[in-house]
Amino acid sequence: MRKPTLALLLLLSVCAFERRAAAQNSDRDPRIVKLVESVSPERLGVILKKLESFETRSTLSSTTSTTRGIGAARQWILDEMKSYSPKLQVSFDTYQVVPQGRITRDVELRNVMAVLPGRSTRRIYISGHYDTLARPGGQGSTNAGAPADPDARSAPPADPNAPLDNLAPGVNDDGSGTALTIELARVFSQSGIDFDATLVFMCHVGEEQGLVGARLHAQKAVAQKIPIEAVFNNDIVGNDRGGNGIVDGATIRVYAEGPEDSPSRALARFVQRWGGRYVPSHKVRPMSRPDRFGRGGDHSAYNALGFTAVGFRESRENFTKQHDVRDTYDGISLPYLAQNARVNAAAAATLALAPPPPGVLNDRNQPMITRAPTGYDANLTWTAAPGAVAYRIFWREAWGVDWQNDVRVGNVTSLVLPNMQIDDYVFGVASIDAGGHESFVTAYVSPPRASTDIKTKPGS
Ligand SMILES: [Zn+2]
Repeated sequence: MRKPTLALLLLLSVCAFERRAAAQNSDRDPRIVKLVESVSPERLGVILKKLESFETRSTLSSTTSTTRGIGAARQWILDEMKSYSPKLQVSFDTYQVVPQGRITRDVELRNVMAVLPGRSTRRIYISGHYDTLARPGGQGSTNAGAPADPDARSAPPADPNAPLDNLAPGVNDDGSGTALTIELARVFSQSGIDFDATLVFMCHVGEEQGLVGARLHAQKAVAQKIPIEAVFNNDIVGNDRGGNGIVDGATIRVYAEGPEDSPSRALARFVQRWGGRYVPSHKVRPMSRPDRFGRGGDHSAYNALGFTAVGFRESRENFTKQHDVRDTYDGISLPYLAQNARVNAAAAATLALAPPPPGVLNDRNQPMITRAPTGYDANLTWTAAPGAVAYRIFWREAWGVDWQNDVRVGNVTSLVLPNMQIDDYVFGVASIDAGGHESFVTAYVSPPRASTDIKTKPGS
């Protein structure tokens, strides 16, 4: 083995310094600190009590009452977000859906969305689902008995056109993610910060029928080429007391679809890095899997159509309250929900202020990484990101999930790391603006190789 060069030793010592520097508070943006601090547990409580007061928010419930059912709930969410700031563009995202799967009749679905326009059209979503579900036995008996798809087996209603109005308070599932989304619409729109990215606060509907509202919106985004850069989806994020009695009010899980260096995994690492910097008392646990066993969430609807999305989930779930009439306000920890909102706020604000991530693929879709100039170096090239004044290079052992080293470089679009064998490490690059805001990391990974069958002589 060749001895490390002086340049590499110098570089590694720079990295050690950089890593120490990264842990300090001095590179936090005071505007983001203020934004994060302005998340209000009391406001979250007021929103949750209001959501509970509609008694059911089932996608198939009544729309005629002004106080009960999904029609009243969506109108209140719309009016509430409209009241926060004239900068917020609040609207229904409406679809006419025909019977299919768990949708048992013609129904008008309305996501409620609030758009906070940024300087660019690239979009960052913070979301939850405001619809609810309750069925006999709830999720507790589902998990215990573990049928594959209990909803699919339920008997069809006597009158398929009758509203499904049974009590379904859904305060944690997913009143919690909805309240978080609504509260962050307030906090961001009243922050006075001029974001580069456009922020979208999205309350989905139809989640319990198979992510229907999210899938419809993601389909629209593909058709209309809406540039969704990231989706922070929050579903069941308000309870810190597990059904087994274990309490954890200081951890949030972030589920991320693979493969290991997918943009969604990069987003989960980003949440850990930046959420942790602004909310150090709260631990972010990224999860290298799409979601929990047998469970789903709206982030997967975006993943399925190629968007970058992660799913926030409380640390310890109480399955007996989910999809059950017992999913009530008394199962919520407001301090815990507020901490989860702060992690979302810190990461989304950083991402929305940062330049877009740099590109690392050439026009043949290959990563721009070589062994030049010696044949034994790591030679990285990336495409400049608009607004970037610097870049941060990350690397880790090729057997590992978290970045181990990073170094900040200036406004350049290539770097040589001497004697770093590119086969042994994963490399990535993030863009940084003049205020120190970092994008998430784009990794240098090879696309999967296409497989072709070997031809043989017929009959051989
Ligand atoms: Zn849910």
